[in-house]
Amino acid sequence: MRIALGQLWQETNTFNPLPTTRADFEQFGVLRGAEMIAAMSDTNELGAFIQSLRAWPERPELVGLVRLPAWPSGTATNETFRWLLDEIVNSLKRELPVDAVLLALHGAMVADGAPDVEGEVLAAVRQLVGPKIPIVATLDLHANVTRKMVESSDALVLFHTAPHIDVFETGLRGARVLRRVLVEGAKPKTAFQKIPMVVPAERANTQNPESVSYAFREHLQALEHDSRVLTAGLATVQPWLDIPELGTSVIVTTDGEADLAEGLCREFSQSVWRRRRDYLPELVPLEEAVRRAHDHSDGLVVLSDSADATTSGAPGDSNWVLHELLKYKWSGPVLVALVAPEVVSAAAKAGVGAELTTPLGGVRDNRFSHPITITARVERLFESKFVISGHLAKNLPIDMGFSAVLRSGDVSILLTTRSGPHFAPEFFRAAGFDPFTARVLVAKSPCGFRAAYQSHAREIMVVRAPGCAPSDFWHYEYRNIPRPLWPWDDDLKF
Ligand SMILES: [Zn+2]
Repeated sequence: MRIALGQLWQETNTFNPLPTTRADFEQFGVLRGAEMIAAMSDTNELGAFIQSLRAWPERPELVGLVRLPAWPSGTATNETFRWLLDEIVNSLKRELPVDAVLLALHGAMVADGAPDVEGEVLAAVRQLVGPKIPIVATLDLHANVTRKMVESSDALVLFHTAPHIDVFETGLRGARVLRRVLVEGAKPKTAFQKIPMVVPAERANTQNPESVSYAFREHLQALEHDSRVLTAGLATVQPWLDIPELGTSVIVTTDGEADLAEGLCREFSQSVWRRRRDYLPELVPLEEAVRRAHDHSDGLVVLSDSADATTSGAPGDSNWVLHELLKYKWSGPVLVALVAPEVVSAAAKAGVGAELTTPLGGVRDNRFSHPITITARVERLFESKFVISGHLAKNLPIDMGFSAVLRSGDVSILLTTRSGPHFAPEFFRAAGFDPFTARVLVAKSPCGFRAAYQSHAREIMVVRAPGCAPSDFWHYEYRNIPRPLWPWDDDLKF
């Protein structure tokens, strides 16, 4: 028994003007064949696939295809898309025949000329292996699931959580579904419902009992405890995708019971639709948020700069929050991060201890913010290299490149060469800070940061500031989305 494993991971934000290229994947860490199996055996979904399959009594042969990961960013170039597809197709062709294919995908990747990258990938894999070989893929909760993805696979297994703390667990669930199909003879019957709505991420917290998504997660997990159900998922979609099939999706796959799948899917879709307004977040105007943070005499205040969330594919060089923070005198460390390769180079050239006057921010994206001039001391130079676990990851190596800390009063500005998890405690520690004892920490993340900070923070505020990943996205220009779609069209019936 030979089972092929592979990964394609990138979340696209079509508002980010920076294209995603082959170099972004190569920098993050492309791995192939046996090297991939060895390196990824305890990391994210691939690690869960590998550990699951190794525990099967049938002792299947693990066939490593390719791991293709890149950090969330702008639309991929068409050349990059063709390279990715070639990598997957050629690696599989070389290994045929296989008895099954298990893929870890994101589900919200867009390339020039290919708005449904994962649909194209799954269709190409199906074309190669034929209709009888099981194909199971895992997807992020923010996937934009399409008909093509559903029709080209036997089952799509979605994350159940946001913050995404079940990445590894989803890999285990994916391998379990494959086992039921491949070894135990289950006959997958999938119901797929597109709900004409797109919701902000801020309140889609599946771990907070007060959040609308909490009960939905519990419901889906209960469905999966029913042995007739192979998998059940809700994808609330990445909102910043200007593409034809944008929308929330529900998928239910049963063992041979098409009517059951349809009924469960329809009923669940209606309950999600009914609660759509509960997803609208309360944003705090930037000036008010910073003033309130300043008013607290102690304790950690976390400000979510969700519109420039690097985990949402935004460029990470919006300076709105920094600009506001610099207006105050603080009584302890204030930590704010930006992607600014030119300023990192200038800081390295000036040297630790030097004073630097430099434009900062508004370069990678210059529509939503513009450079401001700051004067600060170069406090530290470091490598943003660490391993993250928690939201998004289990044991995932990250390398955001050469980095610098600039200091202006109590405000420490962490500048990286590349984008990455500008919310992760491991990132702040790599820069030499204890994130939990800061006065203020700015997380470029809409929701996932809560997994690390909720229990440490005196107050958390999601600020209203401009950026490529705004919460009120329906006020921005989309040209290609299907209409009617809520909340663009408020009077829509479903
Ligand atoms: Zn996600």
